[in-house]
Amino acid sequence: MTYYQIVDAHCDTVSLFDPQSNNYDFTMRNTTGHLDLPRLQEGRVKLQFFALYIKEEYSKSGALRYCLRLLDHYYETMNQCRDKLQTISSVDDLKKVMNSQKTAALLSVEGGEALEGEIAILRMLFRLGIRSLGLTWNHQNDLATGVGNGVQGEGLTPFGRQVIREMNNLGMLVDLAHINEAGFYDAISESRAPVIISHANVRALCDHPRNLSDHQLRALKNANGVVGLTFYPEFVASHEVTIGKLLDHFVHVADVAGIDHLGFGSDFDGIEQVIDGLEDVTKIAGLIDGLSGRGFNEAEIEKITSGNFLRVLNSVLPAGSV
Ligand SMILES: [Zn+2]
Repeated sequence: MTYYQIVDAHCDTVSLFDPQSNNYDFTMRNTTGHLDLPRLQEGRVKLQFFALYIKEEYSKSGALRYCLRLLDHYYETMNQCRDKLQTISSVDDLKKVMNSQKTAALLSVEGGEALEGEIAILRMLFRLGIRSLGLTWNHQNDLATGVGNGVQGEGLTPFGRQVIREMNNLGMLVDLAHINEAGFYDAISESRAPVIISHANVRALCDHPRNLSDHQLRALKNANGVVGLTFYPEFVASHEVTIGKLLDHFVHVADVAGIDHLGFGSDFDGIEQVIDGLEDVTKIAGLIDGLSGRGFNEAEIEKITSGNFLRVLNSVLPAGSV
């Protein structure tokens, strides 16, 4: 059997890292949650994106403070498993970790509210290790508008455009999951670097505002970006969700945008329901078997499981230590 390294572009596991909580330990195998260090390794995830999700209750005030608290929980947790897991911040780091026994981690923020309207805060978050930013969650903020009220609405604000330009300068991934259509197209034309959609699916197969239209998929292809297809049943089909129906989304993106623009964005620990057979990160192997059952060859599966996201990371992240 071919050994595939896996890149997963989105999980919400940091929300479980609260030191006050005593029913979850990232360094041990847990019966709750969808992933932890032993299960990441068993599932052969080589690079896991860890999102700091800015809860809605902090969107009007306290967003940065909350973001920093999550970041502290993350680093405190990582201190306990430094020998097994490394946070990557550059192309150099990425190369080193990918060729080692360690698992790589990439820090992202989900919700531009954390910037509290200041480019200086973006730069400080970068210095603290953040390498990806989801401009919005589902609501409007001072960067753009999320899909919470549908895909229509206004695009990027002047501040949103400024943030993208500075992210390009710094070497951060622009993540367009959750953003509305106008913001999506504005961001693609503003960004000098390829963008990602860390977790979303295909609207032609599941008509949900969080999913991407074929027009968006073609724009993503032109921008040389990648979408991480997500395992959340609600974004896969309206009923009787199966791994087969999730595989349909992979086939569709490959048909519309090409094989170079899709990957995984599980949303593990951010979802209340899972697909039968895809209950946690250890089950990703079954999904990979399914891809080969759908006729993807080894080189194509290698692009889906890691190659496409690695290509974007190698072109976006800063070269060496910063
Ligand atoms: Zn999300």
